[in-house]
Amino acid sequence: MTHSSKPPKSPTLATLAVHGGRDAHVVDEPVDFPLYQSVNFVQEIGTGAGMRYPRYGNNPNAELVQSRLALLEGAEAGLVLASGQGATACALLALLRPGDHLLVSSWIYGGTHELVTKELPAMGIQCTLVDPTESRGWRRRLRKNTRAIFVESPVNPTCRVLDLKPISVLTKELGVALVVDSTFATPIAFRPLEHGADVVVHSATKFLNGHHDVVAGAVLGTATYIEEVRRKMTVWGQAPDPFACWLLERGLKTLDVRIKRATGNAMRVALWCETRPELSTVQYPGLPSHPDHEIALATLDGMGAMMAIVHRDGGDAMTKMVSRLRTITHAPSLGGLETLVSEPRFSSHEHLSLDERKALGVPDGFLRISVGIEDPDDIIADLDQALRG
Ligand SMILES: *Cc1c(COP(=O)(O)O)cnc(C)c1O
Repeated sequence: MTHSSKPPKSPTLATLAVHGGRDAHVVDEPVDFPLYQSVNFVQEIGTGAGMRYPRYGNNPNAELVQSRLALLEGAEAGLVLASGQGATACALLALLRPGDHLLVSSWIYGGTHELVTKELPAMGIQCTLVDPTESRGWRRRLRKNTRAIFVESPVNPTCRVLDLKPISVLTKELGVALVVDSTFATPIAFRPLEHGADVVVHSATKFLNGHHDVVAGAVLGTATYIEEVRRKMTVWGQAPDPFACWLLERGLKTLDVRIKRATGNAMRVALWCETRPELSTVQYPGLPSHPDHEIALATLDGMGAMMAIVHRDGGDAMTKMVSRLRTITHAPSLGGLETLVSEPRFSSHEHLSLDERKALGVPDGFLRISVGIEDPDDIIADLDQALRG
């Protein structure tokens, strides 16, 4: 016997994060969606239609998490890939052909930077970096063959927040695609498609999975476009493993509570950091001192769990401070349950000179903090003893 336990008419994000993509339960069916750790599925005889193979992105675990992410972002369709980098690469390969031109914000993740400055140009796709704060910067660098604009917001690692509105007005006017890497926001805080974007890209390795135990990425957009991304993913071999999809689906269930808890913690930590004489800068969109505070207030549903601090005495002082941390862990990734810190000059920005890093807002002494879900008093106590030395 079956009974329907359909979610309410307009389920909220918190409910979609738990149930999205599974709207009817059958008696004796497992409550947790099972892991289909199988490469092969019995195929219907006499037709190629509906054939399942994980590299096509149609393993049942992939399909469930894809539909859940699409519901959370308000997209027609979604695709889960093997990494955030794979998601960005396939998202752009599905939009651009040799001879096309792409405008890219200069404030982007290191891997994206390498993709657009080395790999895509080598394939005959022209890419121009644009300082997103430059007035009319996007319009001035347009070419006849410009096909898309790519931005990241909030920005890794400076936590700057971009206003998508003027950019989306331009992309709509030109009929080109606006692609947004929304890894730092997650759909709990920001849904780019509601702000004029056409494509959303995520490193699901970060907040979407949230447990520092999966590498995955996601692309969201129209069904037609996602089919083209799927084609690229299939041919370039960027599909995720079923177990990664299963873990990601489990991680998504707690997305809303994790983000809210970590955001509350980040606000507490940021306010405390602002009182510290050892720190010359505290970057958190929730602080009135943040350069994009007004944009963040107007566009985000939450200020997020990412922040950054700068030690007034520079790089050595910050490295010493980090070496004294006990609860907080020094590690390069972000977006999980544990509070992690990272000095970009030794990770994502290692290949840049000090002047180049300064120009991007990442001077020596800069520390990115991914605030976790621990008790905020313990996070603050750890920072306090480490700063005091
Ligand atoms: C980590 C990250 C990526 C790359 O994701 P992977 O899952 O590591 O491949 C892309 N964009 C942003 C903003 C990131 O933080």
